[in-house]
Amino acid sequence: MGLLDYHVHTARCGHARGEMEEYTRAARKAGLAEMGFADHFPLYFLPPEDRDPGLAMSFEQLPAYIQEVRLLQHRLNPYPLRLGVEADYWPGREAELRQLLSAYPFDYVYGSVHFVGDWDVSDGRQSDRYSRAEVEELYRTYFSLIQRAAASGLFDIIGHADVVKKFGHRPEGPLDGLYEETARAFARAGVCVEVNTSGLRHQVGEVYPSRRLLECCFRHNVPVTLGSDAHRPQEVAAGFAHAREVLLATGYRYLSGFRARERYVIPL
Ligand code: ZN
Ligand code: FE
Ligand code: FE
Ligand code: ZN
Repeated sequence: MGLLDYHVHTARCGHARGEMEEYTRAARKAGLAEMGFADHFPLYFLPPEDRDPGLAMSFEQLPAYIQEVRLLQHRLNPYPLRLGVEADYWPGREAELRQLLSAYPFDYVYGSVHFVGDWDVSDGRQSDRYSRAEVEELYRTYFSLIQRAAASGLFDIIGHADVVKKFGHRPEGPLDGLYEETARAFARAGVCVEVNTSGLRHQVGEVYPSRRLLECCFRHNVPVTLGSDAHRPQEVAAGFAHAREVLLATGYRYLSGFRARERYVIPL
């Protein structure tokens, strides 16, 4: 399997387990051509006292995270282990995030939308809020945030682009208009979209993004990459045979890799 897994967390985020070396061992055992860590970037958009250590590492932990990836890169050389990060997009805080990110030597930066206002829509502890929400409006808000994340130019990759479906809540009407608009925004921004297999492990039971959205992305020539969103070593490359089938059936023949924030392609 010549694939890559660019979405791997570490214990530093407070909700993943295992040593970093266990993740890289799992990647090599799965036959991945590359692996990259993309742990949660500090919650820069919240006041320091509200930054839940169970959601993301702190700014104090960030240098040690980078250092540990560097050490592993040396130890595994020439295996391509990348240094990435998963940063939350927060509208209105773009300049600040740009400034923060520029201080670190990342190979790639994921932009993810987890928060819609004060609600982390990907957090199982808050999933009861879906039953009280107006789901159609929630989707419109969520996808507009994803589009703004892409347009910000801050990110190389858009992570789990429709994670708002995670707990199985979907509006009744068709989503094609929203998908089309979103794929167009990705294409305009020149951003890469991630096929994230963690949805297979959650209620929704399918990858992010949905097949229909992925088809829109393909029609608009949006490049793709692949991530398991592993929060434990045995989740590295989980669901990748299925993801590969979905990608091939959609028409994709290449995955994107990144080094020093430069994109290149590898065959699927
Ligand atoms: Zn996480
Ligand atoms: Fe995420
Ligand atoms: Fe993640
Ligand atoms: Zn994630």
